[in-house]
Amino acid sequence: MTGIRARTRRDGQAKVPPPLDVHAHIEAEISSEAVRGLGAFVFAMTRSLDEYALVSRRRDTRMVWGVGTHPGGQDYVASFDEDRFARAIEGTPLVGEIGLDGGSAVPMAEQTRTLRSALGVLQQTPRLISLHSAGAHLQVIRELHRTPVEGIVLHWWTGSADLTDEALRLGCAFSIPPVMASKSLILDRIPSDRLFFETDHPFGDRGTTGRRKPGRTTDVEERLGERLNSTTIEMRHLHWANLRKLVLTLGLLHLFPEDWRGVLSDDSLRGRNAS
Ligand SMILES: [Zn+2]
Repeated sequence: MTGIRARTRRDGQAKVPPPLDVHAHIEAEISSEAVRGLGAFVFAMTRSLDEYALVSRRRDTRMVWGVGTHPGGQDYVASFDEDRFARAIEGTPLVGEIGLDGGSAVPMAEQTRTLRSALGVLQQTPRLISLHSAGAHLQVIRELHRTPVEGIVLHWWTGSADLTDEALRLGCAFSIPPVMASKSLILDRIPSDRLFFETDHPFGDRGTTGRRKPGRTTDVEERLGERLNSTTIEMRHLHWANLRKLVLTLGLLHLFPEDWRGVLSDDSLRGRNAS
């Protein structure tokens, strides 16, 4: 099915777009039917350049695949190559996931070298970047100071209040999985126009009731909506409006599949993230 648009109804109310999940882990072999069956728009992460190569020719209408090098795996980090990374990101608006991990068996020096190399490329060629920071929050902030880039979305961030404030000063946004949507004090510090929602399926949606699946960000919409005194529909519009703003700022709209461009081009999303 193509051509799904967030049309504006005659009464001026925007049509409700489907849920949006900005960080999920999906098998590279997933069928196109299964992707459509998710009923959502999804940013799918890859863990290595080899894994990205497996999906780079897919033409999913509602899933965008990120170019990734996950810091948690020796093989993933060891196979990183700057030129190959630079070529891979030509065909997608999304990088993910990359970052640093304090609990990884990969030496921090090696992780850091890889991240610096990727950020160097991304300074020249901006992309949306889903950044991993578990157990390495200070190091990640240090690297972002060293190599400032636009388009950073810190995924499942659990850094301190001070580091959160520093990340905000650096222009970062944050993607919130269900497991941190109701309890994290960090959430009080993040302005609503820097909020994104994710499942981090199959990790970040543990503990949710019902069927866990990529794209099911409705739990986050509900819980954040309670905090922000907003309906789930308002939260969904906010989420899409935040993505739209970032995509247009970075000039990445042309790299999205048609279904995405339909939603992201909806003018009625403009201004919803003004507060
Ligand atoms: Zn992840």
